[in-house]
Parts: sequence; structure tokens; C-alpha cells
Amino acid sequence: MKSHRKELWFETDARRAFLNITPQVREALIESGVKEGLALVNAMHITASVFINDDEPGLHSDFELWLEGLAPEKPYSRYAHNGHEDNADAHLKRQIMGREVVVAITKGELDLGPWERIFYGEFDGKRRKRVLVKIIGE
Ligand code: ZN
Repeated sequence: MKSHRKELWFETDARRAFLNITPQVREALIESGVKEGLALVNAMHITASVFINDDEPGLHSDFELWLEGLAPEKPYSRYAHNGHEDNADAHLKRQIMGREVVVAITKGELDLGPWERIFYGEFDGKRRKRVLVKIIGE
């Protein structure tokens, strides 16, 4: 069985952002040489997500409004977690958007549905953060 590990690094200019990381995951798959197997892609930080959905700006705007409705960033004082930190909303947003995805690898390709793309969801950005890609198979 082959195994390949790769870290992807991101630093967003904004506190919150959604980045399509499908090309970087595909690149890791090519490096791995795996033709049949699985790819795990997970955020390595507890204020960021990896998820699969549509690469459509209106939807991303909807996500932003929906998440702000559920867990508004401000006032910071509304959260018990915020004392020396101000990122309680980011922990909550990450929890609902998920930590990781697993994608099947078939014939050397990411076996995604027609509109599925892999996203990094940043909820407490402006600093360097990582995503882990782990690919296993034959
Ligand atoms: Zn925190």
C-alpha cells in the first residue's frame, strides 16, 4: 500500500474566507502515484474547516450570512470562550462546517460529483494555518 502525506499552508487577508483547494489536493494525488484509494483532507486548526460544496460565490455569501446568524463574531463579550481570545465564533463556525472530508480515488482521479469542490473554510484568519492531506491506496 502506498501512503503520501502533505501539508497545505494558507494565510488569508480576511478573518473569514473560503478557498477552493481542489487543485492542491489533486496535485498531492499526482505526487502520491495512488490510482485506487482514499484521500483524507482535514484542517489542522480548531477554527478552520474543510468541506465539499459548490464553487459558487452566491452560495459562499449565503454561508457567511448563515454562519454569522448562528454565531455572530460580535459582541465578543457574548461568549464564555472570549477572554484572552476573541475567536469563539470561529470555533463554533468550524464545528458546523466540519473538520475534514474523505474523497474516493478512482483510476488516479479524485472521484468527485460533477459540482463537488473541496474548500478550506477560514474563520479566524490573518495567520499561517495548515491543512493535512493524507492519501492511501495502491
Ligand atoms: Zn479560541
